[in-house]
Amino acid sequence: MTSTSKHAADSHDLIRVQGARENNLKDVSVALPKRRLTVFTGVSGSGKSSLVFGTIAAESQRMINETYSAFVQGFMPTLSRPEVDVLDGLTTAIIVDQERMGADPRSTVGTATDVNAMLRILFSRLGKPYIGPPNAYSFNVPSVHAVGSFQKGSDKAEKVVFNRAGGMCPRCEGRGSVNDIDLSQLYDDTKSLNGGALKIPGYSMDGWYGRIFRGCGYFDPDKPIRKFTKKELHDLLHKEPTKIKVDGINLTYAGLIPTIQKSYLSKDIDALQPHIRAFVERVATFSTCPECGGTRLSEGARSSKIKGKNIADACAMQISDLAAWVRGLEEPSVAPLLGALRHTLDSFVEIGLGYLSLDRPSGTLSGGEAQRTKMIRHLGSSLTDVTYVFDEPTIGLHPHDIQRMNNLLLRLRDKGNTVLVVEHKPETIAIADHVVDLGPGAGTAGGEVVFQGTLDGLRASGTLTGRHLSDRASLKPSVRKPSGVLKVRGAHAHNLKNVDVDIPLGVLVVVTGVAGSGKSSLIHGSVSGRDGVVSIDQSAIHGSRRSNPATYTDLLEPIRKAFAKANGVKPALFSANSEGACPTCNGAGVIYTDLGMMAGVSTVCEDCEGRRFQASVLEYRLGGRHIAEVLDLSVEEAVGFFGAGEARTPAAHAILKRMADVGLGYLRLGQPLPTLSGGERQRLKLATHMGADGGVYVLDEPTTGLHLADLQQLLGLLDRLVDAGKSVIVIEHHQAVMAHADWIIDLGPGAGHDGGRIVFEGTPADLVAAKSTLTGEHLAAFVGTRPKAARSR
Ligand SMILES: [Zn+2]
Ligand SMILES: [Zn+2]
Repeated sequence: MTSTSKHAADSHDLIRVQGARENNLKDVSVALPKRRLTVFTGVSGSGKSSLVFGTIAAESQRMINETYSAFVQGFMPTLSRPEVDVLDGLTTAIIVDQERMGADPRSTVGTATDVNAMLRILFSRLGKPYIGPPNAYSFNVPSVHAVGSFQKGSDKAEKVVFNRAGGMCPRCEGRGSVNDIDLSQLYDDTKSLNGGALKIPGYSMDGWYGRIFRGCGYFDPDKPIRKFTKKELHDLLHKEPTKIKVDGINLTYAGLIPTIQKSYLSKDIDALQPHIRAFVERVATFSTCPECGGTRLSEGARSSKIKGKNIADACAMQISDLAAWVRGLEEPSVAPLLGALRHTLDSFVEIGLGYLSLDRPSGTLSGGEAQRTKMIRHLGSSLTDVTYVFDEPTIGLHPHDIQRMNNLLLRLRDKGNTVLVVEHKPETIAIADHVVDLGPGAGTAGGEVVFQGTLDGLRASGTLTGRHLSDRASLKPSVRKPSGVLKVRGAHAHNLKNVDVDIPLGVLVVVTGVAGSGKSSLIHGSVSGRDGVVSIDQSAIHGSRRSNPATYTDLLEPIRKAFAKANGVKPALFSANSEGACPTCNGAGVIYTDLGMMAGVSTVCEDCEGRRFQASVLEYRLGGRHIAEVLDLSVEEAVGFFGAGEARTPAAHAILKRMADVGLGYLRLGQPLPTLSGGERQRLKLATHMGADGGVYVLDEPTTGLHLADLQQLLGLLDRLVDAGKSVIVIEHHQAVMAHADWIIDLGPGAGHDGGRIVFEGTPADLVAAKSTLTGEHLAAFVGTRPKAARSR
């Protein structure tokens, strides 16, 4: 149970922050109880992240970095000390965030959580036949057989044989898939090389490649490729790197395939330039490895079994099933190992991830799934007295799963850790031992601690969070009538069981269900790709570091024109991406230093002082402000600036109004896009698409990162879209959004193979009346009870 009475031993045990001024924080001082759970609340932009991540976690990280030797520090980014007077009582901070996990195909849910390590020991102890130590079951370890000689002093050299049994499939090198190359994307075989046959970006016959191809003598550059002999084609495609001499210059010739393998295909696809990424996606086709059948494992590793299953079978099972299978293994010699394995697998089920399998590539997990997977790793950790920092851990969770997530947060605390959580959902705020509420507003209107203390204190405090904490939605007295239906027939992506459903059009539809029930598979698999459907997700917005809300929404266009007209000069001067850019930083405002393996470091450009423009451009003004000052305005301020007076610009004003409508009034126009959260990116996309055509809008969890006080605004926005004739389909767990829907589609009943069916479709009132599904039970409690009762759930 939550309790605020302090143990005598930790009555003076606090993390104390005094005079924090990072970003918008206004001399903030807080005292956080150690080994307790503290929740940080406040509207978006109020300064929660600046306090928790930018001050407390950042300083802990910096102190740890300073303990490394000067040599190691030389490779690390130099972190500056956060703007704060006093910070004491800090412990090691571990941030458990929603960053997606790396895209390395060899990283899976099993390897990321140490479960695979445990399974490998298990199989090396119990598997029949015995094939070797745990590494023999690892798809990350190749088999090595080496022979060498070893000489000690003047003794005779001894022959040494080195053998290591690894479990890696030799064909696909542990990837599970092999890539084939679509040759028609490499060249047009009706043309000759000189006639422009090659379609690979950067391969121009005018440059070095032309000299090499013409000078190598392996084929005739004027003969169409389809007329090449077998030998010529082989040399063109596959020839190993070979030294050649052309016009007296030493060059290396290599076939097209080894060259693009090395230069493009082995690189992280997200790091490539867009046109090269597009090429790689066209040319590389992936197929399951024929040798290991996609299991990534060598034949030996697959031959060794426990109760008829090999380690690949175990990793392919749904984790909830694997937990049951492990429970059935009785073997006293490995009892502690089995205990630890069961415990970890049970944690997966408890945290609502029982539908995953261990062989799922970790790069394909959603942000919420990735955060919970990282959490499991820490639950199994023997470290204590650590400060865990969570960023909205309830994202993607059904009310049923939030309860379970809460239990895990409390378990981390009870192991003796300090748990700091940034969160908006009332169900999680309710378990806090201590609450810190920031505000009162966002940006310059925020940055103060408006309340710190207990939950009851927060409720009585009268702050925005306190007032809205007990908000409960009520069902609408009537719902809208659909104008038609969008038919889905026989949907079977992932776990869907041949689902037939009619999604009503012209109304607000909420699609819900526990995590893993099949919501996203249904909507993204059967609705999103259709004509006239606009899908607005939280994925990263591709663009350069110079992109910002103004460039992304095309707001900069009318602003540049207004500046140009007012000053009688060219619009291009007012773009940090073109003529007006500061030449030193090329308009980025900062200078990036790439550190190779480590994250890069950025420092503010000394020439323009981060303003991104040439000094001469800043002499032109509109309504008394220069362009850098305008880009420093918040959306809200800009609505006023462009709405009336000297700077009145209706085209800019219309775009800004839409941004304010989606709850982004606090964003600065020039804030770099990579600093936006997933929820902010989604709302920004929504603002841009609101003016677009397309009749059906699909939104995935638009309440992410949204303060309780902003919910009404979001619901109003969804209503306006529907009233303007659009169909709105929302994948959402927030009960206030469900209560506000015209129609609910509930998937389940469980997750993974226990889900994938429609368990309810109808109005919210019918769902509440029937209480036949988990969602129905929770929604009934939400709309029907007082806050006190809701808390004890
Ligand atoms: Zn293979
Ligand atoms: Zn500069």
